[in-house]
Amino acid sequence: MMSEDDHKKYMRLALSQAKHSPPQPTNFCVGAVLVCPPRNPADNPIVITGYTLELPGNTHAEQCCFLKYFGDQTNPFYMPAGSTLYTTMEPCNARSAGNAPCVQRILGINAKQGGRAIKTVFVGASEPETFVGVNEGKKKLEEGGIEVVKVEGFEEEILKVATAGHVKEGHQERQANGGSGMKELTG
Ligand code: ZN
Repeated sequence: MMSEDDHKKYMRLALSQAKHSPPQPTNFCVGAVLVCPPRNPADNPIVITGYTLELPGNTHAEQCCFLKYFGDQTNPFYMPAGSTLYTTMEPCNARSAGNAPCVQRILGINAKQGGRAIKTVFVGASEPETFVGVNEGKKKLEEGGIEVVKVEGFEEEILKVATAGHVKEGHQERQANGGSGMKELTG
């Protein structure tokens, strides 16, 4: 079992990943860490990192973790039971055509023995209030039986890093939260 210290350690790692993401005016710099239990319990867990736009295309942080883990594997996707995802921001639930939302990807990964491989997603920042009703990532995950837990203590820095590329002109809130299409670019 992972402790509160582990959760903070992995969230810190996710945040350090977010800082590698190239700041853009139209999306968030997000970092993610995927932690999979090792085949042999005596070994260290498998830790895979990702950040927004790390891999070619309009890639999200969580998506990069999964792409690295699965390589050229195709559906069905299996991962060890008890795998855990850490992401600096709530995973997205809607994207433009051709791009599966991260929530859908998370819900599509199963454990070989049945059930979902990822049962808990740790997030560092809740969606800004204006997003509620737009990004239903947390709600959709919970409906799918996945617990969403916030790791406290990182939100302020996470939001600063996430919006580093946004235009700051007195209406930062609008830049960060308004704008049509933003909903598909979170997490
Ligand atoms: Zn996403």
